[in-house]
Amino acid sequence: MRKGFPVVVSGPSGVGKSTVCRMLLVDDGVLSYSVSVTTRPPRRGETDGVHYEFVGDEEFDRLVESGVLAEWAVVHGFRYGTRKSSIRDLTSAGQDVVMDVDVQGGMSIREAFPEALLIFVVPPSSKELELRLRARATDATDVIETRLENAREELKWSGRYDHVVVNDDLERAAAEVRDIIVREREGRARTPDQENQAKKPGLE
Ligand code: ADP
Ligand code: 5GP
Repeated sequence: MRKGFPVVVSGPSGVGKSTVCRMLLVDDGVLSYSVSVTTRPPRRGETDGVHYEFVGDEEFDRLVESGVLAEWAVVHGFRYGTRKSSIRDLTSAGQDVVMDVDVQGGMSIREAFPEALLIFVVPPSSKELELRLRARATDATDVIETRLENAREELKWSGRYDHVVVNDDLERAAAEVRDIIVREREGRARTPDQENQAKKPGLE
């Protein structure tokens, strides 16, 4: 059976990562989503086990100590992590596994899973990013300010990713990400011995 590969989607808060990921998952039977663990409290409309596994600080400590996380990082003041089992169980079952993680997580996943495909989503402008964060209306004003400040730092990491996609028009951007994943699958199917080889940025 084919082995799947991890697909990392990173980018500043509010750029549209979760929206794009949701769209990718709708009609792709070979793509699954890795649900992260976080100490961030749930937002309105978020469901435990679907959007995140929401845990307290002590539980997160326990997960770190027991070594079950493939990576974890502090992002905008809370801890977020990816379970090793989320990736391994799904890739072994033939699923590609999309995960929405920050740039620290992206680099850690590349280290632990050299076969991972890394996609960075950027906004058409910083003004548009701010508008999206405010229009989403899920975060307090100070939280939005922190996220906008962090965006400048995060954008500097885009060059370390295999692909950079501008989320201008949502349908277009989602189609571009979908194409990248499909092309990657086709390439790997043609050269199955390279299934587990590292992606080499810039060498397509
Ligand atoms: P992220 O997961 O990157 O933090 P979201 O997916 O929550 O971002 O998107 C932030 C907000 O921007 C949401 O309200 C979403 O509906 C909106 N959005 C996403 N993509 C676009 C787009 N291309 N054009 C306009 N609004 C968008
Ligand atoms: P949000 O609070 O908006 O859902 O996510 C905030 C940030 O945390 C985003 O940049 C998102 O990519 C990142 N994030 C979500 N899950 C994980 C994870 O498991 N690991 C890491 N390193 N970052 C994550």
